Amino acid sequence: MSEPARTLHPALAVSEGAPANLTIAGVRALDPVAGIDQVCDLVVRDGVVSSLAEPGSGAAPDSGEVVDGSGRVAVPAFVDPHVHLRTPGREDEEDIESGTRAAAAGGFCCVVAMANTDPVVDSPELLSALRRRADREARVQVGFAAAVTVGQRGDRLTDTTLLADAGAVCFSDDGLPVRSARVMRQALQCQRLHGLPLVLHEEDPDLSGEGAMHEGTVSVRLGVAGIPWASEAVMAARDVLLAELEDGRIHLQHVSSARTLAIVEWARARGVAVTCEVTPHHLLLCDEDVAGLDTARKMNPPLRSAGDRTALREALRSGLIDCIATDHAPHAQEEKEAPFEEAPMGTTGLETAFAALYTDLVVPGELSLATLVEKLTAGASVLGFERPSLKPGSVANLCLVDLDKEWTVGENGFESRSANNAFLGRRLRGKVLLTTSAGAVVWRDRSILMREVAA
Ligand SMILES: [Zn+2]
Repeated sequence: MSEPARTLHPALAVSEGAPANLTIAGVRALDPVAGIDQVCDLVVRDGVVSSLAEPGSGAAPDSGEVVDGSGRVAVPAFVDPHVHLRTPGREDEEDIESGTRAAAAGGFCCVVAMANTDPVVDSPELLSALRRRADREARVQVGFAAAVTVGQRGDRLTDTTLLADAGAVCFSDDGLPVRSARVMRQALQCQRLHGLPLVLHEEDPDLSGEGAMHEGTVSVRLGVAGIPWASEAVMAARDVLLAELEDGRIHLQHVSSARTLAIVEWARARGVAVTCEVTPHHLLLCDEDVAGLDTARKMNPPLRSAGDRTALREALRSGLIDCIATDHAPHAQEEKEAPFEEAPMGTTGLETAFAALYTDLVVPGELSLATLVEKLTAGASVLGFERPSLKPGSVANLCLVDLDKEWTVGENGFESRSANNAFLGRRLRGKVLLTTSAGAVVWRDRSILMREVAA
């Protein structure tokens, strides 16, 4: 049998950790895609899932670690197609090491970093340098998006062929839309050559204007300039039509409004290759949660109306939304402490995604645990990566979760270098205790007890 590839995709970078040798004893192994849901001794040998054995069957290895899995769940680790690692340029907010440590703590084995850094990732040299740095520093597998346009200025395409050869996993101007329809059309034509997804932040900057939150009754009451739902939906409509024209493939980032979902549904029915993602904060919060003008809840796209939130949840359940992405967006505290209108947009999310969604959607019975796990790993399929799996023979990309453990967001600080989290102070249920990525243990909660088995 040939060795399984260590990473989910050849273009992903990760620093080499020691291959894991561990047994998670008496754990519920849940992998909805592989059809696995059983209590077992989950055995990892040399970084590969070797068996899902009968509990207590003596399949425990003669060396390595034994982890108590009773009352806990092991699931495929999560894949986040949309994070900001702020490197290069704002390493005071996040760097590759701290960002991927936050990812590991949240149960993620793979993240994709956006290109809106300083400088923008628009050259093969910078992209290659980042991948080399990630090979040394990244705890979990990292892919890098390359910019669609030079400097993300929206008027001239980057050299997509060179960037694809240098290991870009997708193209995105995230943070900004591709303003020119002509340039977007050219980007879709280039896709025939490189084959990588175009990952799109859909916004019409003229409609957003100086808006700081969703335009609706709450923004009127607060007297804060609003961003209408149409700002996202008109750009999404343009891009699905261009994708149809050029027979291209696009992925819409952080979909926030019911109208945008209607456009995705319409485009899919016409056979357009469009996928989309939603963030935990858009699923769980709405514009009413901004009434206190807490800048940790200022993001782009903004938290929409309660009706939009309901539509997003329905679309997640129905499968219209392909995957969950955090849009992890670290910001310096002093910048977030500015008045609401002036503060930068974004919330961190890697460390709270699973627990927040589990607490507010799975515990009340709105979403099944299996669907949540499936949607937190589906970002892999969207980007053409292999999906993490618990199937024997798979490289260990898994996390162990205690579903009953309660914790308060921020009580022990964050692994991320930034603390601007929209759920700060919330009491949540469900804690990631251990994460493996590319076959190595990359995270273990302080609370977890392990015992070494003598060789
Ligand atoms: Zn964005």
